[in-house]
Amino acid sequence: MTKEIVYKCARCGAIIKKEDLEKLKLGVRCPRCYYRILYKIRTSGRVYFKAV
Ligand SMILES: [Zn+2]
Repeated sequence: MTKEIVYKCARCGAIIKKEDLEKLKLGVRCPRCYYRILYKIRTSGRVYFKAV
């Protein structure tokens, strides 16, 4: 099982795969709204912020 890394746009909430980012060659940037802040999410393990 491979650990797929995906990004979530901080502005529009679009989910972008790391491999798609590499294909687009925009750098780390949302292909939908071109916002530069993306959260990194691992699909195989939840990396949500925990409110303990
Ligand atoms: Zn976006």
